Amino acid sequence: MKKVIGMVARTSRKNRRPDRRVSFGRSWMGALCALVLLLLSASVAAASPELGFDELLEKAEQVRSANPVEFRQVLREVNARRAEATGDQQGQVAYLNAYALAFAGRFDAAIEAAGKLMRSTTSVDMQVRAGSLIVTSYAGTRQFTEGLRQLEQTLVLLPVVKEPSLKVHAAVAAAVLYNQIGQHELALQFADQVLATSKIPRELCFAGFLKSEAQLKLGEIPNEDKALVGIIDDCLANKEVVMANFTRQVLAQKWAAQGERKKAISMLSEHLEEIEGTRYPRLVGEVHSLLAQFLLEEQDIEAAEEHANRAAALSANIPYSVPLVAAYRTLYEIAERKGDKALALTQYRKFAEADKAYLNDVNARELAYQIVRQETLQKTQQITALDQKNQVLQLQQKVDQQAAQNTRLIVILLILLIASIGYWAFKIKRVQLSLKKMAETDALTGICNRHHFTIRAERALAECARNGEQAALIMFDLDHFKNINDRFGHGTGDWALKEVAEASKGFCRRIDVLGRLGGEEFAILMYGCDLRAASRVAEDCRVRLAQIETRETGHVFAITGSFGVTSTQQSGYSLAKLLSQADKQLYRAKHAGRNRVCIYDAEQENARATSNVLEMPHRDRAEHLGA
Ligand code: GH3
Ligand code: MG
Ligand code: MG
Repeated sequence: MKKVIGMVARTSRKNRRPDRRVSFGRSWMGALCALVLLLLSASVAAASPELGFDELLEKAEQVRSANPVEFRQVLREVNARRAEATGDQQGQVAYLNAYALAFAGRFDAAIEAAGKLMRSTTSVDMQVRAGSLIVTSYAGTRQFTEGLRQLEQTLVLLPVVKEPSLKVHAAVAAAVLYNQIGQHELALQFADQVLATSKIPRELCFAGFLKSEAQLKLGEIPNEDKALVGIIDDCLANKEVVMANFTRQVLAQKWAAQGERKKAISMLSEHLEEIEGTRYPRLVGEVHSLLAQFLLEEQDIEAAEEHANRAAALSANIPYSVPLVAAYRTLYEIAERKGDKALALTQYRKFAEADKAYLNDVNARELAYQIVRQETLQKTQQITALDQKNQVLQLQQKVDQQAAQNTRLIVILLILLIASIGYWAFKIKRVQLSLKKMAETDALTGICNRHHFTIRAERALAECARNGEQAALIMFDLDHFKNINDRFGHGTGDWALKEVAEASKGFCRRIDVLGRLGGEEFAILMYGCDLRAASRVAEDCRVRLAQIETRETGHVFAITGSFGVTSTQQSGYSLAKLLSQADKQLYRAKHAGRNRVCIYDAEQENARATSNVLEMPHRDRAEHLGA
């Protein structure tokens, strides 16, 4: 075993020559982050001497992990030619500079630069790229709370990211961070996500290790060695020696736990030279620490002591590392077994201090996780509350819209209702008016029918009686009208009736009432007229009828009428009486030879009453009046 240790020490010295690797000033944590950064870059491609700006950027992307020295040179050239960059390329240049800062271990500067880029770019892909870099950088500075916050912001963007490799890089950053803060379940989920989606061997190697680390901490390492061996082979095939040996260390712990401690010791010892060759403090420290523990359990105290001292020396500047705690514990146990009480006490103190620092660190990481989890919960609750409020507002808006629509509908319905009521009222009124007119007028001549004449005449008589005014009634019947019908047809008879009505209207004022009492019999009630005036009107009317020109009917014939006249002075204000006495005069006119006017004559009436003899009038009424 001493031989192995000696070999390791020699190898270490041999490997101390300066190489192209970037030195990570801060800690093994920073170094781990640098490994992640290596992963976040693309594979190597051949460079060409004459390059356009886009080709130069491409080259910078390609060499940034494979050849850090060349990367720095290319980046200097990129920055010198920065004026050539388009809008998108400006973002890419900013990212490369932030990446270079993180790679050089200047995490704070990297965080600031990437943060600025995140805020200024509109490209989601670039935001995720810069976000992943910030997460990794926060892990490097052990600012877990900020790292988790940033991680969350970055993960939220993943569903809209176009470039698939960016999703993988974000998932790797998440798995690293979650493993670091002891949230191995989450780390496992993200590692599995990478393993399920990526086909790039380096990514699979890295995710495989992250998964095995999480499984080890969760006590979920599969019994079979196949998976772990597969990861180691994949990593070695891709020259990922650090990752391969980290996975070996997981395998060794698994074997030791299964009781195969010797197998674990020999496997780790076999690869110790290679492990030392990585000059990766965390890996080297952990392997020595593990060997010390296993060897002590195998009672190889000297070898155990040497490994423990080496682990303690490597991890001394990390006050909270697991290997350091384990190394001091081993050294304390060795001193005690050797009976060196003073040394045992010193080692125990160191162990207790390292253990306390380590536990504090674990607590700090747990606290960081809980803080961010709490913040996320609060944010989710706020978002849910806002969502609900939004939904309520949307519903309210819908209700308002519906109400407004209903009001509009009601208004429209009311308008329609009022319009239709108006329309129907108008229609009904018109029908009523036309019915009234039909009921009141004679259909053929358009003047009052007998019924309506009676009503109007009675009203006029009553009014005259009230006002102490006289009124007169003219009645006339067309002569031998039957002959007209018989000779020229009924149509011509109708025509004659209309002409007569039209001619008669010319003798009536608005206050007079003209009516067709039936057949070819007409009457005029003359408002405010005495017998004399009415007789004159009757005579004029008679003359006018006789003058009606009939040629338009195709026949030439005379239209004449016999008139009877009376007035209220003679007959009183009773319409029936007036009609009856006018009718008597009319018949007198007929008997006297027709086409004449007979007026009420009180003397004659008296004489006739006393003689009881029907008197046949001989004189024409007109003559009488003219006399
Ligand atoms: P008189 O001189 O004695 O009054 O003789 P007349 O022929 O006029 O009297 P009569 O009573 O014998 O005949 C009246 C005629 O009037 C009979 C009827 O056919 C006709 N008549 C009544 N109403 C209408 C009508 O609306 N249109 C037409 N064309 N003729 C009518
Ligand atoms: Mg007649
Ligand atoms: Mg008649």
